[in-house]
Order: sequence, then C-alpha cells, then structure tokens
Amino acid sequence: MHPTRWGDPAAAAPLPDSARGLIELAFGLEERPATEDPSVPAGQVEEAVLDGLRTLVGAEHVVTDDDTRRLRTRGKSTPDLLRARAGDLDDAPDAVVRPGTHDEVAAVLAFAVEHHLAVVPFGGGTCVTGGLAARREGYAGVISLDLVRMKRLLDVDQVSMTATLEPGLRGPEAEELLAEHGLMLGHFPQSFEYASIGGFAATRSSGQSSAGYGRFDAMVVRLTAATPSGRLDLGVAPASAAGPDLRQLMLGSEGVFGVITSVTVRVRRLPELKVYDGWRWPSFAVGAAAMRTLAQAGLLPTVIRLSDEAETGINLARPDEIGSDSAAGCLMIAGYEGTPAAVETRRAAVAAVLPVLGGTELGEEPGRSWVEGRFRAPYLRDSMLDVGVLVETLETATWWSNLDRLYTAVKGALETSLGEGAIVLCHISHVYETGCSLYFTVAAKETDDPIAQWEAAKAAAGDAIAAAGATITHHHAIGTDHKTWYRQEIGDVGVSILRAVKAELDPTGILNPGVLIP
Ligand SMILES: Cc1cc2nc3c(=O)[nH]c(=O)nc-3n(C[C@H](O)[C@H](O)[C@H](O)COP(=O)(O)OP(=O)(O)OC[C@H]3O[C@@H](n4cnc5c(N)ncnc54)[C@H](O)[C@@H]3O)c2cc1C
Repeated sequence: MHPTRWGDPAAAAPLPDSARGLIELAFGLEERPATEDPSVPAGQVEEAVLDGLRTLVGAEHVVTDDDTRRLRTRGKSTPDLLRARAGDLDDAPDAVVRPGTHDEVAAVLAFAVEHHLAVVPFGGGTCVTGGLAARREGYAGVISLDLVRMKRLLDVDQVSMTATLEPGLRGPEAEELLAEHGLMLGHFPQSFEYASIGGFAATRSSGQSSAGYGRFDAMVVRLTAATPSGRLDLGVAPASAAGPDLRQLMLGSEGVFGVITSVTVRVRRLPELKVYDGWRWPSFAVGAAAMRTLAQAGLLPTVIRLSDEAETGINLARPDEIGSDSAAGCLMIAGYEGTPAAVETRRAAVAAVLPVLGGTELGEEPGRSWVEGRFRAPYLRDSMLDVGVLVETLETATWWSNLDRLYTAVKGALETSLGEGAIVLCHISHVYETGCSLYFTVAAKETDDPIAQWEAAKAAAGDAIAAAGATITHHHAIGTDHKTWYRQEIGDVGVSILRAVKAELDPTGILNPGVLIP
C-alpha cells in the first residue's frame, strides 16, 4: 500500500461521473495533487546496532531502504494520508526488522532493551488511531517489527473447532488457509484485505459479520506473546475460573505489553449458503428498535447493519450510483450464512418479526450491492481527498437506552464543528443484546489546514461521546488519538493498572512508546 492511499493501486478508480457531479455541487472540486513519493528522514540507528539485529533475524530481514520504511510509516487514518500527501513522513522507522519465529521476536525485544530502541509491532498497517506512530524522543532509534514473515497456520483442531494462526497472516490469507480444511474465521472488517491476525487481536477488532461470528477478541481462546520480561502462554480451556482472564490484558494492548506471536481462535465450517436481504425502515429510531428486538430475542442474522436517513440517501456502497434520495427511509442489511437449513430457519424467523416492527422487505438486490461495495469505501475516500474533500470516520458504542442521546450529540458536534455544507452520515455497525455501535462518516470541503479541521471535529465528537457516557472506540482502538478520552473512560485507577502492567512486562518502555497508555 502506498503511504498516501489505500489498498491496491490497480483497484483504485476515478470518481464515477454521477458521484463527481454530486460532489462538485456539494463541495466544489479542487484538485489536490499528492506528493506521490514523499521522502523519509535519514535513518538514525548506527550500523553496528543494525549488524546486531542482522545476526538475530538474518541480514536480508533488516531493511533500511526508503521504500520499505515509507510503507511502514503511520497507518491509514485520513490525517495519516494527509500528512503523507503533504510530504511529511517524519514518523518513519529507522529500520524494518522481520523476525520469522516467536524466538526471533523475543531475541529482537531483548536486543532492543539492551540498545534502548523503540519497537513498533507492525501487522497490516491499517491502524486509524495513531497506534503506529510511536514516540521517538529518548530512544536510540525506532524499529518497525514487521510480522510479515510469520504467516503459518500452526494447528487445526477439527474436534474442538479451533485453529492456531501466526500474527502476520492477513485476513484473506488466513481465510484461504482455513478454507483448505473446510473452515473459516468469519472476521471481515472493512480493512479485511490488508489487516492482520495479530493486528485484529491487538486492537480488539470487530468485523461486518460479528453479529453472527463474534468480535475478534471473542474468537481468541489462546494466545502466545513475547514480552521483554518473558514469554506468555495464555488460555488452557474454553472457560476458566482461574483468576482474572489475562488473555484480556493482551487483547487490545496495541503492542505496548508484548508482541502477539500466535493466537488460537475458534473457527466455523465454511457456510454453504450466504443470503443478504435489504429492509427499509421509516426512520433510524424505528430500525434501531427492531435491531434491539432481534438481538434480545436471540434472532440476530450473521450480518446486520442499519444506515440512517442521510447515509441511505447517499448510498455509499455504490459510488457509481451515488445520489440523494431522502424518501428512501433507512436501509438495513440483514445477511444469513450457514447451512441452507440454518439460513432458511433464521431468515424466516427474522422475516416474520421485522414487518410487525415496521420494516418493508426489499429483497436481495440491496444486499448484493452491499456485498459488492463493502470493501470499496476506502478507495472512494482517496478519490475525494484528490478533489479537496475531507472524508473521515469515527465510531463509538453505547447501551440501547442511551442510543438516541449519543446519536444526536455526536452528529450535532460533527455538524457544528465542520460547518455548513458538511455531510454527516451514520450507521449502526454492530449489535448486542444490551446496545450497539454507531459508525459515523463525514465529508466536508477541505479548509487550508484539513488536519486541523479534522482534529477539531474529532475533538468535538470525542467530547460529545464522553459527555454521553459512551465509549471512545468500539473497534478502532486507542492508539495515540484516543488517549485523552480513554483516561476519562477508565479513571485514574485504571490508568495506574495499565502503567503497573507496562512496568512489569516492559520495564524499559521500548514497546510502542506513547501508544495506548494515557
Ligand atoms: C479503511 C479502513 C477500514 C477499517 N475497518 C475496520 C473495521 O471494519 N473493523 C475494525 O475493527 N477495524 C477497522 N479498521 C481499523 C484497523 O483495520 C484495525 O484496527 C485492524 O485490526 C488493524 O490491524 P493491522 O494488522 O492493520 O494492525 P496494525 O495497523 O499493523 O497495528 C495496529 C496496532 O496493533 C499493534 N500490533 C500489530 N500487530 C501486533 C502484534 N502481533 N502484537 C502486538 N501488537 C501488534 C501495532 O503496533 C498497532 O499499535 C479499518 C481501518 C481502515 C483504514
């Protein structure tokens, strides 16, 4: 992936004419050529130290060329892309180190402690919260610990229905290996094509099918991590009353406590059938209430999501059909995966309930559109940045009883901060018995300083989220961007616990300095 863009350049497409027309009308078009190959600052790590790393992982796996360092700089939030587009890659690591085994990871960590090098674990590089931009000050250098060589499926247990995966496997690679055994993980975040197994675990990722298959942290039954203080092997049974669950300390730890070197995850049989239906709702509130009813009745489909009126009108899934149709109500996608019998039973049960709650069935076409377009939005973001339109997303979650308050507060905060003409879209992306997550997308004409423009909007939204008593992140994690609100969420005692764990596992603070811990 290029540092200024998302994904495979071959998959990028110019804005379709219809979308271009609408965007011109809404924001005007102002071509913003990006610096295509921003330069990285010279590496600071001494050659003798690099030689030491070479003896640990092999000379060919300590890489210092500009291209490789460029591609390991920061993540894929809009500010990350804007900084790279403006030619700023100041957070580039000095070297990229590629260990091939758990023991090599452990050896690199021990070496980094000795030489006081900051270590940034790197999976797919799709982080959107600043979790790959570690602090450099006070360290002899920064190395990106790229897990790209650790891509094995280590074990499959067809009886227990678990599989053990190495952290460097990207989403599609993991699914391909499992499919050879007739199995699947079922974790499909929008970043699926590039994000890695280790990254999913380190950020508590959630996917588009999490209603059916569960969040990634719920899938992990066992994990291994290398820490500067030694090896952690956690999880010996499907459930346990042996004290607090230490796996949970590593899940979501964003590389600050250790490097996750394998996870054992629960797996499913490959579905024989997948069907995705569309449902129309007269309003977001009525659709949300229907989702709550399904969740609390134990009737959730595998995929369920509900766009608000604005997002339904814009139809993000199909950039070539972007339009504004306020009469469209609110679109819900309900998808079912499994054996034909299981699909039929669940689909019939849902179809019996939803009309009673106010839904109108739209058939399979909206579902097909959503499936086709589900990984395209990040490419659309690039095209909009190219013409001077700021596009970014944020997400949160709350209890059902607090949903209206949160939705109104965050939408209002974003609209006020971004000003007249800004578009704020929202959908319910994940649903639980007790509540759900809200995922906001904004588009606004860029000011002269779009990073400051977004930071102001993000701060307003973060404050609104905190004031509404919701979480600052349902699945994007903390990184560096969310630390202020994370402190409010867990309180001073919570912060002290994190610091104590950090001091125990990483006493010299080499792992991802500045990330996660407020
Ligand atoms: C367009 C787009 C769409 C997205 N959609 C979703 C979505 O639908 N759902 C969702 O949950 N997220 C989504 N994200 C966010 C991101 O993809 C997730 O946070 C993902 O889990 C990160 O995985 P990664 O492999 O890319 O991790 P990276 O970006 O490489 O790393 C993320 C953090 O984890 C640490 N880390 C990585 N690997 C390890 C390891 N093995 N051990 C310890 N620490 C490690 C890193 O140091 C960093 O702090 C999206 C991002 C983008 C850009």
